[in-house]
Amino acid sequence: MSPAVAPPPAPVIDQTLRDLWVTILRGIEPKLQRSQFITWFKDTTVLGNEEGTLVVGLPLPMFLNWHMEHYRVLTLEAAQAVEPSVRQIVYKVDVGLRDNRERSTDILQFFPEQKRRKLAGRQEVKLAEGIVSKVLNPKYTLEHFVVGANNRLAHAACQAVANQPGGKYNPLFLYGGVGLGKTHLLQATGNAILKQAPKATVVYTTTEDFTNQVIEAIQHQKMEQLRRRYRLVDVLIIDDVQFLANKERTQEEFFHTFNALYEERKQVIISADRPPQELQMEDRLISRFERGMIADVSVPDYETRLAILSEKAAEYEIFLDMHVLQFIAEHVTRNVRELEGILMQAVALYELEQRMPTIKSIAEIMRKLNKDPYVEEEKVGFETPEKRKATFQDLLESVSRYYSVSVQDMIGQSRVREILVPRQIAMFLGKKHLRMSYVRLGEMFSNRDHTTVMNAVEKIEQKQQNDPQLLREVRAIEQELGVV
Ligand code: ADP
Ligand code: MG
Repeated sequence: MSPAVAPPPAPVIDQTLRDLWVTILRGIEPKLQRSQFITWFKDTTVLGNEEGTLVVGLPLPMFLNWHMEHYRVLTLEAAQAVEPSVRQIVYKVDVGLRDNRERSTDILQFFPEQKRRKLAGRQEVKLAEGIVSKVLNPKYTLEHFVVGANNRLAHAACQAVANQPGGKYNPLFLYGGVGLGKTHLLQATGNAILKQAPKATVVYTTTEDFTNQVIEAIQHQKMEQLRRRYRLVDVLIIDDVQFLANKERTQEEFFHTFNALYEERKQVIISADRPPQELQMEDRLISRFERGMIADVSVPDYETRLAILSEKAAEYEIFLDMHVLQFIAEHVTRNVRELEGILMQAVALYELEQRMPTIKSIAEIMRKLNKDPYVEEEKVGFETPEKRKATFQDLLESVSRYYSVSVQDMIGQSRVREILVPRQIAMFLGKKHLRMSYVRLGEMFSNRDHTTVMNAVEKIEQKQQNDPQLLREVRAIEQELGVV
């Protein structure tokens, strides 16, 4: 018998470990706010599980303290519920996990949006004669929709339709980019109609669902039945019709349903991401869409963004300082969903730490979500307030906290790799923000020679140019220090 040869080390990550992690996450997820969960467990994974030690991989140094302070016990309990043999959690920072679908866990895939979870089991309602509609979200109302120049016409049209369904504005066609409020308006109109006429059959469906219904009807040869059902609808709301592109059969069914309803003066409300003439579908359908009222929703201006934020903050029952709201409104410009996302994070922060979000903490949140406020800073000419004079001790502490290394090690003699970069960054920041001389810095770092300091500062200066990760880290520390 040949002597036992040690097997080669297992690959750093394998499917079993990731499955294990997803199962553990299932235990953690219900215990946290959605926003916290996404923020702090994104791009994490299990890197090892041996002899009772579960090694959890984190994508950024700044996650380390946070996990140790807030999630270690929770993670251990959740892990033990799955694997009773686990006795301790050990964290390992591995920046290679970041945005790496191969190695880390795509949390949004495994844990899709909360809205659905909230409505679980109630996602659909059966209306008369077996007609199915998505449940209208009562949160979406016309009253809670903030009107600005970007959506005034669309809102007015919805209001008019709500007052008189099947009237002048039929069909009503709303279009605009992602996250600008189309679904909100569609559902709000449905809600408003139902409020005035509770017995009306209001069907809200996504194009995807409609397509599936058609496919199913074809498979089971129940097309006639489906048609008849849809003809009994009083108001048909269909979201995101751009997805009808290339679905000839569904387009055809929709065309007939549309005509039948239209002739009966039943209201049809449609949304899409582009105007009718740009849709890739049959001309006869496009010309039907063009018959009624067409209104667009576009990106809200600063004032409207601010008003939306105030409205949402009131909905979440959180009071936020006006400066904080202004800061968000200035930096999150592309769509309302994003705006709401940041606000949700602020709410989470508030609930978690029982402290009011500040501009600093919001900037931190944005940075975590990769919406670095300082990237847009020049564009909007915004200056972050709350500057204060940092001391050398503050600086050392910030760097130490960020990288989870001790101040002692940083200023000491250790030549361990993990210490080198934090030390160089501390020197760099001392030079840049505290205007300390190389000689003075050398003294502070265990009497090192001033040329050593000079080299370190230059090294960080240069590395920053080609290393966005390093740049981010330096910025995060600067921000924490309040020197930017
Ligand atoms: P779309 O369907 O156009 O992609 P949504 O209707 O889903 O966008 O809007 C995204 C989020 O933004 C929703 O939560 C919605 O309530 C909110 N929202 C968008 N515009 C407004 C507005 N003008 N007032 C209040 N909330 C808005
Ligand atoms: Mg939508």
